[in-house]
Amino acid sequence: MTPQKRILSGMRSTGAKLHLGNYEGALRNWVKLQSDYKVFAMVADWHALTTQFDDPSKIGQNSREVAKDFVAAGIDPEKSPVFVQSHVKEHAELHLLLSMVTPLGWLERVPTYKEKQQDLGGAEREPYGLLGYPVLQSADILMYKPYGVPVGKDQAPHLEISREIARRFNHLYGDVFPEFASMIGEVAVLPGIDMRKMSKSYDNCVYINETPEETAKKIKGAFTTPSKIKMTDPGVPEGCAVCQYLKVYSPDWKTQWEEDREGLRGCSKNKNECIEAVNEFLRPIRERRAQLDDATIEEILKKGADEAREVAQQTMQEVRQAMGLW
Ligand code: ATP
Ligand code: MG
Repeated sequence: MTPQKRILSGMRSTGAKLHLGNYEGALRNWVKLQSDYKVFAMVADWHALTTQFDDPSKIGQNSREVAKDFVAAGIDPEKSPVFVQSHVKEHAELHLLLSMVTPLGWLERVPTYKEKQQDLGGAEREPYGLLGYPVLQSADILMYKPYGVPVGKDQAPHLEISREIARRFNHLYGDVFPEFASMIGEVAVLPGIDMRKMSKSYDNCVYINETPEETAKKIKGAFTTPSKIKMTDPGVPEGCAVCQYLKVYSPDWKTQWEEDREGLRGCSKNKNECIEAVNEFLRPIRERRAQLDDATIEEILKKGADEAREVAQQTMQEVRQAMGLW
């Protein structure tokens, strides 16, 4: 029997909850890929530290909560290892070795790096770890020699760096890391309720693990076509957050968009139908989520780390050998 091809992807535990953007950009694909691949689902707690080093006290519990969302969303821990990055120390060793072959210029050019540097108050306050973020991410990925990495579109430049680091390593020391594919979700970027990218840091999210009432309140306040005041005013569904969610979660979205465009329906009708569609979609996920306690998830994470470590140790042996370290 040929060994099953692997998939690796991760989410940072910067918050306790995953949102619909995380689900559409990445998690939906992870769940789907499980039938054909061995999916390694990682909670990236070290990555959370790159921006939360000044208050890491919640990262541990956040990691457990994020893992619960993975399982609730349909990751089957019997088939797919769910694990926390810091539980597999090999990631730190590979990060160190890859950092030796990564030119600084590559990292300084990463678009998200400049933005985050500004957020942290400039170069003086910027931790070394932030610049190295894509190197650690490369270690996470390359460790599993994956066939593909399913992520949202915002992650595409990071994956490009990982590919370049792999090529450089292979060129210097021999072929250890095969090329991998980027697998971008069908909804590459889901907008938040304010129409910017849905993101934990922007506080514009519909969370998987919130009550239907909370979801309803957010969608009621979501951004719609600004010039559509009366029902008969024409809407622009492409620029309306509610219509964007209808497109993903309502089977009738084509009619809803047409009526919106032609002024045959008002925003409040859209919102009510959207609330229903989103809550209906999330209902089974939320039900599964409510069943998961800390003890259950800790057991899943331990088993997942053991399985991930087995692969990681094998890769590290090859890496040390290729470099002549052993
Ligand atoms: P943070 O604000 O802390 O960066 P985030 O909400 O952007 O958090 P990440 O942990 O950075 O979430 O991303 C996890 C995964 O979810 C990545 O694959 C990312 O591409 C994807 N993702 C995040 N937000 C969206 C979105 N709005 N649409 C599609 N995919 C997304
Ligand atoms: Mg992000």
